[in-house]
Amino acid sequence: MQYAALASGSKGNCHAFCDGERTLLIDAGLSLKQVRVRMESLGLDHRTIKAVALTHEHSDHIGAVGVMLRNTDWAFLATPETKLAVEGIHGSEIPHNRWIPLRAGFALDWWGWRVHPFTLPHDAADPVAYRVEVSGFSAAVVTDLGHPTALVADHCRDLDLLVLEANHDVEMLREGGYPPTLKARILSRVGHLSNVSMAELLASVLSPRLRTVVMAHLSEQNNDPELVRVVAEEVLRGWQASLHLAHQRQALRPELPATLAASH
Ligand SMILES: [Zn+2]
Ligand SMILES: [Zn+2]
Repeated sequence: MQYAALASGSKGNCHAFCDGERTLLIDAGLSLKQVRVRMESLGLDHRTIKAVALTHEHSDHIGAVGVMLRNTDWAFLATPETKLAVEGIHGSEIPHNRWIPLRAGFALDWWGWRVHPFTLPHDAADPVAYRVEVSGFSAAVVTDLGHPTALVADHCRDLDLLVLEANHDVEMLREGGYPPTLKARILSRVGHLSNVSMAELLASVLSPRLRTVVMAHLSEQNNDPELVRVVAEEVLRGWQASLHLAHQRQALRPELPATLAASH
């Protein structure tokens, strides 16, 4: 199994899981061209992409849906509420034969993969994060949440790989140049995860099994990658997990432990 963060941040999000035969993208916030370019740059075959699972309708997660609808035959996994919201924004329909309906809390069998969407506290129609399980490999992509919940933590236990939001440093955000309404939105219970809240959530789901941690959706204005690294390393001290930071402009493919990379 392979995982790549093709892009992560407020300007666009796209993650990829590949088992060699099939690739599932999480979110469509990166142009189709860049999806292909960045996958190839990592040695992953973009022709294996079969579907995109959408988390919610904010533009940094769905910006490329229209182009992907017109130029690929990929399927779209989304809850009915998110599908409706995306269609409203794009003004085009996701055809029924290309829509795989989801319901938060219910796992879906996708070509033998277990794709499990679960609810996040975020200001969108029906926001979800995904847990993906394939042949004994378990991962979750958890971004765009205002605060850690017990439900989110439950879905982040017993993972091999966790991709977790570390959006902002509260002080940097408060003192920065964002308009007050935007600051309030980000800081709210349905906004984005601060470094402190990230550390709290990460600490609550640590296990010997967790070997790879990717910090994601970092704010370029309101966070400092070095600070994120320090905060996360403090939590991970004494554990086996390797730490990575996902980028906005550059793809990241963390090397997974050999047993996991081979398990498909
Ligand atoms: Zn986002
Ligand atoms: Zn969002």
